Amino acid sequence: MTAQILDGRALAKTISQEIAEEVAQFQEKHGWVPGIAVVQIGEDPASSWYVRQIKKSFTKAGMRFELHTLPADADAEAFTMLLARLNHDPRTNGIIVQMPLPKHLPSHLVTDVLDPQKDVDGIHPLNAGKLFQQSGDTFAPATPLGGMEILHRYNIELKGKHAVMVGRSNIVGRPMALLMLHEHATVTICHSRTRDLAAMTKQADILVAAVGKPKIITAEMIRPGAVVIDFGVNVVDGKLVGDVDTEAAMEVAGYITPVPGGTGPMTNVMLMRNTLVAAKRQTGQA
Ligand code: NDP
Repeated sequence: MTAQILDGRALAKTISQEIAEEVAQFQEKHGWVPGIAVVQIGEDPASSWYVRQIKKSFTKAGMRFELHTLPADADAEAFTMLLARLNHDPRTNGIIVQMPLPKHLPSHLVTDVLDPQKDVDGIHPLNAGKLFQQSGDTFAPATPLGGMEILHRYNIELKGKHAVMVGRSNIVGRPMALLMLHEHATVTICHSRTRDLAAMTKQADILVAAVGKPKIITAEMIRPGAVVIDFGVNVVDGKLVGDVDTEAAMEVAGYITPVPGGTGPMTNVMLMRNTLVAAKRQTGQA
């Protein structure tokens, strides 16, 4: 068996065009375009690379992008004052803060100040709680939303399926598990203390990995014909590899997201969609 590739890159391109059309309609109606503000403290190269990708995606779809940088030694007051200002800026519909913050700034500063209505990456406890309760007006984090969108666009049904989520972080594993549960999958969540991980993963109709360990999911851990969604982004010998041993898994799985070109490109378009939704909510359209 050779698995069908779930082509996140192509899908992201299509969705980006759809969003660009919606942005144009929004502009026609309101005379301005929805926009995101990205806050970056310090100059971590990986973070700067990601910020450039966000800028590229947003501007390509005709959306506003603003970068606000603070020096690595910025104090809590400077940071929270910037966030508060962005909260009140009507041209800023969504805000994301590049994490992790420098060690001297506790991460709760972000959620203490960030307006949940502008929290387009779904990190605020109010949005996490609304996601938990399956309330429609939440913002789910962009990465798991991207994984779900791949499943939807490839018409992969979740109802009644056994989904096994490996990883339980607040930004990927846990929300992905909830989103799959909300679509009536039977969900098992695995983590670093799970005994016999392979025994769990082998039961999966839909296997999702968000661990951050290169090729931790081997072909032997995959049930023949399973759908495999790989969120892992790991750099090994200068090359990007996922949490799944993709090449070997291709011979067993039914569908698989490649790395790169799978879930990665979907994250930015989901961030764009959340920002568009935020702008609509803020203007009473949604
Ligand atoms: P975290 O480090 O926050 O979480 C990793 C999770 O994996 C934890 O729940 C941890 O368990 C679990 N884990 C660690 N080791 C094992 C193991 N041996 N067996 C089973 N579970 C294990 O990572 P993130 O969720 O932030 O990211 C996961 C991956 O996704 C990374 O590669 C990251 O780069 C990537 N990522 C990709 C994005 C994209 O756009 N595609 C966006 C964000 C992240 P425990 O809770 O017990 O510690």
